[in-house]
Amino acid sequence: MSDTQLASMQNAAPAVRFEDFGLSPDILRALADQGYTHPTPIQAEAIPIVLQGRDVMGAAQTGTGKTAGFSLPIIQSLLEHANTSASPARHPVRALILTPTRELADQVADNVKAYSRHTPLRATVVFGGVDMAPQTAALRAGVEIVIATPGRLLDHVQQKTLNLGQTQILVMDEADRMLDMGFLPDLQRIINLLPKQRQNLMFSATFSPDIKKLAASFLQNPVTIEVARSNATADNVTQVLYKVEEEAKRDAIAHIIRDRGLKQVIVFSNTKIGASRLSRHLEKEGVKASAIHGDKTQAERMAALEAFKQGTIEVLVATDVAARGLDIAELPCVINFDLPYNAEDYVHRIGRTGRAGASGDAISLYTDKDTRLLADIEKLIKHNIARLQLSGFVPQRSSERRPRRDDSESGASPSRGAQYGRSAYGPRKEKVDPWFLKPYEPEPSTGHAESDTAVANKPATTKPQKTKVAALLGGTPKR
Ligand code: AMP
Repeated sequence: MSDTQLASMQNAAPAVRFEDFGLSPDILRALADQGYTHPTPIQAEAIPIVLQGRDVMGAAQTGTGKTAGFSLPIIQSLLEHANTSASPARHPVRALILTPTRELADQVADNVKAYSRHTPLRATVVFGGVDMAPQTAALRAGVEIVIATPGRLLDHVQQKTLNLGQTQILVMDEADRMLDMGFLPDLQRIINLLPKQRQNLMFSATFSPDIKKLAASFLQNPVTIEVARSNATADNVTQVLYKVEEEAKRDAIAHIIRDRGLKQVIVFSNTKIGASRLSRHLEKEGVKASAIHGDKTQAERMAALEAFKQGTIEVLVATDVAARGLDIAELPCVINFDLPYNAEDYVHRIGRTGRAGASGDAISLYTDKDTRLLADIEKLIKHNIARLQLSGFVPQRSSERRPRRDDSESGASPSRGAQYGRSAYGPRKEKVDPWFLKPYEPEPSTGHAESDTAVANKPATTKPQKTKVAALLGGTPKR
């Protein structure tokens, strides 16, 4: 985290110190190793409440420090069970942290491991798309904290490599995205595997009626923690709109990046194909860009993310699902190549910049066809976004454009109407991405993980059913 961000976080935070929470010296030492001096606002609020054993409903996005907000008190609470015994039986799974994506699971696990490194507690991460064997070995050896995506977690339960019978703390991170991704049935199965007596923490960036229903179904008298008004966009983010013809949008993005000398920017595309094309276009224009979306393997996406963090890649072109949960701090600017289909995604996207007090720019392109999307966004954020002229940008006339083989492909750079199908509010393309949305399907008992390609190539029928939240509200069979 940059000094500016840190300073603004510290200014915003009450003058509490980590020492004030009664955290163990082993945890404080780990925090010192990380260079954290003061808790962020969500940490200052969450840590004492979680330490009391209360259920929590947290409204916080990635970038606020929420991971430490729940991990530190969990580690502290589990310390009474910490032991150095070699017996797996002495290391049952006591805390389960569920995340929607592999990247987020990985990041949360890195944080938990860093914060617990001076304690004997063990933590491991399990997610799909990679070999199960190393995960199985870690689970069999015994581990107190498991960070997991729902599908792979259930694979392990099914293969009896994981038992949740002693899990006393459940965290649902980015719960709104888990519902968006159709994980509700998996969540329901997982909840049914846990002891009834437990502490529940749920974090969500937005609070739709479905999220509220889910919260009501499994949180017991929760304390609500909010660091920013839900659906609010940060005041320190400068938002602008540029109107551009559909076919000039890629050139416009290249122009904005060059004109502003942008070095670290995420550009959001609504479709995987759109992300790939834009990334290729930018590369041809001499911009160091890479696309990150569901057709990329885990390894490719991790490599792109790492390169972006290192600065070897300056522009990450991402779809919403792929970008969700990525721990990328110090982002001065985000660009919407497409306006998102859901207004709430606009809030998520621009929340990537202007984090924790730092200032940021959110630039969006729009076309005539985006009137309704724009109206929805402005209604949600409760103010109008400035519509500016893109200075110095002279769009190439279509006759001057080089013919592209891929322009004629179906689904290529689709017009807004084509993207949406019949209605302007049709299904979101990204939502049917089977790589991310794989519902629970047991791994073959051979123990071989499905390859990324195999998952990606599954037919779209693997799209999870949108199950009624009511199933969690008493409609489930009794255990
Ligand atoms: P999170 O919202 O949990 O993804 O955290 C966002 C970033 O803030 C991560 O890079 C953390 O390592 C960092 N961070 C979390 N807590 C603190 C803190 N108290 N001081 C400085 N940086 C922090």
